[in-house]
This record gives sequence, structure tokens and C-alpha cells, in this order.
Amino acid sequence: MSRVSEFNDEYGLELDPERRMLDLESETGELAKELLEASDYGTREVETTPELVAEFGDVYYALLSLAAECGIDPEGSLEASLAKYRERLDASGSAGSS
Ligand SMILES: [Mg+2]
Repeated sequence: MSRVSEFNDEYGLELDPERRMLDLESETGELAKELLEASDYGTREVETTPELVAEFGDVYYALLSLAAECGIDPEGSLEASLAKYRERLDASGSAGSS
């Protein structure tokens, strides 16, 4: 059981994956708002404010919770994505799918 799963289990914070996804969307919106404020709407370099770091943590928690609730190994998933992007970059110079 992951650290996040244990935390959610201890505090009764389990959600079904669909509602966890909505929570993740909400938190990414909050992160976007802080990023805009931390860069004065993109007019200057991002300042790593405590609020920005806190919202990043909320997104990370929600993402790891979603992984746990879907039975996804986040590290394995990341490794597979990196391998996929590496293969695309080596083949075409672009990480995007065509
Ligand atoms: Mg938040």
C-alpha cells in the first residue's frame, strides 16, 4: 500500500476514481491560478511562492490518490511514459504523438 493510500485509509479520504479525477481537475485549476499570479500572468519569470508550492502539492496528492484508487503504479507509469517519449524523440525529434 502506498503512503498516500495509507494516509487516505487512515483519515477516511478514499474517493471513487471519478470524483478523485474531479478533485484533480479542481486542484490543477488552483495550481494554474497560482502560476499565473507567480508570473504576473506570464509577464515575468515564475516566482516559487509558498502558495505555488502548496498547490503543486495538492495536485501531486490528488494525482497519486487517483493512481492508488485505479491500481496504477505511478513510478511504473512514469517510466513507461519516459520510454515512450524517448523513443519518439529519438525517431522524429518530437515528443508529441502524430
Ligand atoms: Mg488546492
